[in-house]
Amino acid sequence: MTASDLPTAAPARTGLIKAMGRGFLGRCPHCGEGRIFGRFLKVRPACEACGLELHHHRADDLPPYLVIFIVAHIVGYLILELEMSYDVPLWFQLSFWPLFTLGLALALLQPVKGAVVGLQYALGMHGFGGLPGVRSAAGEDARLGNSGHGSTGLGRA
Ligand SMILES: [Zn+2]
Repeated sequence: MTASDLPTAAPARTGLIKAMGRGFLGRCPHCGEGRIFGRFLKVRPACEACGLELHHHRADDLPPYLVIFIVAHIVGYLILELEMSYDVPLWFQLSFWPLFTLGLALALLQPVKGAVVGLQYALGMHGFGGLPGVRSAAGEDARLGNSGHGSTGLGRA
């Protein structure tokens, strides 16, 4: 009985939710060990633990867009709730809400950007098509014939 020579198992890509969760916590979406950020919003070139290249992420404007969306819904709801239920002095409203909004936005910006990087990794977007340790697993042969001569006889006029 000969042991079947299995091909070396390629490291599987982390699922979408798990990858985004790891990114939200500032961890590498692939291994969950290395850190994504070198500075506040500066993504490291690659993961120190597994070698996953991170420099080609394209988070761009999506993280601030999502942060505005989230913070506006939270703050807007809380202002309305406070105004309707309690008699809060105006000086408190004018001083508290801008600081609360700014603090919440700054607190969410890095986690949301990490989650966006995790999203791009999980979907194989941009440069995340390859995984560390895998040379060229993705075959280019999957692309079927893109012949210019369409043989569809549908639009016969
Ligand atoms: Zn990693």
